[in-house]
Formats: sequence, C-alpha cells, structure tokens
Amino acid sequence: MHDNQLTLDQIKPLADGRVGLAVLGFPINHSLSPHLHNAALAQLACHDEKFKNWKYGKVELAASDLGKALPKLWDCGYKGLNLTIPHKVEVLPLLSSIDPDAEIMGAVNTLVWKEDGWHGCNTDGYGLEAGLRESLSVELENAQVLILGAGGAARAAAAQCLKSRCKKIWLANRSIGRLTEVVHALSKTFGSKRIQSFQLDSLPSEVGNIKGLVIINATSLGLKREDLCPIELDGFDPSCKVYDMIYNPAVTKLLEQAKYGKMSHANGLSMLVHQAARALDLWTQGSVSVSSMYSGVRA
Ligand code: NAP
Repeated sequence: MHDNQLTLDQIKPLADGRVGLAVLGFPINHSLSPHLHNAALAQLACHDEKFKNWKYGKVELAASDLGKALPKLWDCGYKGLNLTIPHKVEVLPLLSSIDPDAEIMGAVNTLVWKEDGWHGCNTDGYGLEAGLRESLSVELENAQVLILGAGGAARAAAAQCLKSRCKKIWLANRSIGRLTEVVHALSKTFGSKRIQSFQLDSLPSEVGNIKGLVIINATSLGLKREDLCPIELDGFDPSCKVYDMIYNPAVTKLLEQAKYGKMSHANGLSMLVHQAARALDLWTQGSVSVSSMYSGVRA
C-alpha cells in the first residue's frame, strides 16, 4: 500500500509483516492525513525498525459502504483507521467497543484493531484543546466558548470544553433538530447550566460583548471558496479569539473577518496535527513527534 487512494474494491490483504493504517471518508482526496502520519512513522522507524513496514493510506468510501469496509479492513490486516465526513457518527453501531469519552461525544474519529473487532475513540476533542493552546494560547478552564455547528466535530468540541471546565458554551447550528439532539446528549453528562443554544441566524446580542470569547467554527462552511461566512463578526469585541477548524483553504472568510476586527485567529492545522499524533500514539503505543507531523504536512 502506498500513499495513493483506494476504493473499497481495491482493498486487498496486506503482505506478511506489513501493517496498514488509513483514513476513510467521502470526499477524501483533499486529506492531508497520509502526509502527517507517514512522516511521523518514518521518524518512529529511525528508532524502531518494525515501523518501516507501517504505511498510512486513504480510502474513498461512501456512507453506505462503511458496514462492508470495516470487516474487510479488519480481515486484511489494517490495525488503525481514522474516520472523517460522513462516517464519525454513523460508525457507532458498527463498533465492538467504544471509549467512554467518545461515547459522551457521540462521535468517533479513530478506530483501533482489537481481537473482537474495532474499538472506537475520539481524538478530535484532545486535538482541538491542544491546537487552541498552541495557536491562540487559549486555556479552556473558565473560558466562554461559542461553537458553530452541531455535527461530529462540534460535538467533540463541546464535550471537550465542558470536560475541561469551561465557564459556558454557546452552541449555534443551522438545523434546530440536530442542535436539540446535541444539547440533550451533552446535558445528560454535564448538566444544562453551562450550555446555551440558538439557531445560527439568531445570535443573542450579548454574545458579541463577551470579553475573551473563544469562537470555534465547526461547520463545514468555508471548505468551498464560494461559501458564506457562518456568522458576521462585526460588533464582536476585539478580545475574541477565533479558531476555524477548516485548514484547507488556510484562510476562510471567517478568518478574514477576524483579521479585519483585529482578533487573534488561527486555522485548524494545529488541531489536525494534534488529533493525528494522539491517534498514532494509540496505534503504535509509541511516542509520536508532533514536529515530524508538521514537517510532513508542510512538505
Ligand atoms: P458534519 O458532521 O457533516 O457537520 C457539518 C456541520 O456544518 C453541521 O453543523 C451543519 O449544519 C453545518 N453546515 C453544513 N453546511 C452548512 C451551511 N450551508 N450553512 C450552515 N451550516 C452548515 O461535519 P464534521 O465532521 O462535524 O466537520 C465539520 C468541519 O470541521 C469540517 O469542515 C471539517 O473539515 C472540520 N474538521 C476539522 C478537523 C481538524 O482536525 N482541523 C477535525 C474535524 C473536523 P446542519 O446540522 O444544519 O446540517
């Protein structure tokens, strides 16, 4: 297996001694994950020969094929998988076990091979917290956080903020049904006192006045250059810190607005790197170098 992209039919049993890792998603050709992981594996191989036989690839997989792909990849000798759009929530009933944190998040981005099937974990929440700290010097404890979106990434973000003792989260989404579902699930674990929700186009005016508010875009708005901005930042305090989970394109309309408003801002590259490093730690039981991942993605 090389860095190239496979389809479900092209997945074949790996040769003896080879270990496969892969990201599954649709679309998948934009994914930078193979660059990060293969650079870190090359670094690990400098200290331990066995990692020379580990390779990370990508599989283009429609939502309807996930149920067929997981047992096939397990049988073919794959030891770890990452999941991206649209699989993070839909995978839950297909797992043999799930990590308690991922269960709270209601979303899984990392699968670990076990004797009895795939074990689901979530490294997005960890990656976000580490990315916020690294890129914007944000500490979640006592922070007030506005999270845009209610999909898999937003669920992980919200649960991580609450777990890390933020003061309050403001959750905003386009569709009210999905928003209500997420608020209900989070309230069961964390109580409802620290959670406030509203529809994306009905932002309460008080939110813009919060000093030091951390604003996180966890919608997919911004992935395409023609996308609109998920919210308008004029009127927000310049002390706000804006993090867009999107990293490609590197500058979204939201980040342009943050720059115009003189707010600290960053794209989602640091989250991508830190969630990937944590996933590779889980698969290799190794100590993965974050800097090798940054070098891989820059190359
Ligand atoms: P998802 O489960 O498909 O959720 C998508 C979210 O975007 C939903 O809240 C959806 O709202 C909203 N949305 C989509 N189109 C919209 C529109 N036209 N107007 C308003 N809202 C819209 O996806 P996900 O897995 O959570 O990923 C979300 C984003 O985070 C993606 O851009 C992904 O690339 C990024 N991400 C980055 C990292 C990283 O490491 N940097 C990790 C994970 C995810 P509705 O509920 O109303 O449909």
